[in-house]
Amino acid sequence: MVFDIDVVGDEGLDVKIQVNKDQFEMDQESCSLNKDVAVSGHLTRVGDDVYLQGKVTTELALNCSRCLDPLTHSVDSKLKAHFVPPNPDPDSAGEVELQASDIDTEVYEGHQIDLTQSILDGILLTVPVVCLCSEDCKGMCPQCGMKLNQGSCECASEASVDSRLEVLKQLKINYK
Ligand SMILES: [Zn+2]
Ligand SMILES: [Zn+2]
Repeated sequence: MVFDIDVVGDEGLDVKIQVNKDQFEMDQESCSLNKDVAVSGHLTRVGDDVYLQGKVTTELALNCSRCLDPLTHSVDSKLKAHFVPPNPDPDSAGEVELQASDIDTEVYEGHQIDLTQSILDGILLTVPVVCLCSEDCKGMCPQCGMKLNQGSCECASEASVDSRLEVLKQLKINYK
């Protein structure tokens, strides 16, 4: 996903790429790419600044925040990035700063822009803080770990059992 900025002419450059999911390094263990990543968009060059606008689609494998079951999360997200040379022209610095406030700005080196990080950011931005397999996921029992979507366990009722009975029950278990 590296482009030489000189290939971006006055008209800009249409970008349509399919990137193998293995090219992205996900640093979150609980989150991985299920599918290759499709990127379509347009690169525009203004002086030495390059803008990317487009969208990214893929699918992520996550785990439900409550019951930890695996689930898939479809990504169909807008992509916006702004690439600037290492030493921006001091005359346009003010302008650059203004524009940088609402989109991601990356400094490129040697006339080459690399879209990888912007694409990855675009994907990860879509991941909700809490993702659930279903709105009414019941989660797991904090005591026995039973998945409560699949049925209920005895823990809730046992919690109210008199502690003397609890001792008896332990004895009974040991006796077996
Ligand atoms: Zn769940
Ligand atoms: Zn339980």
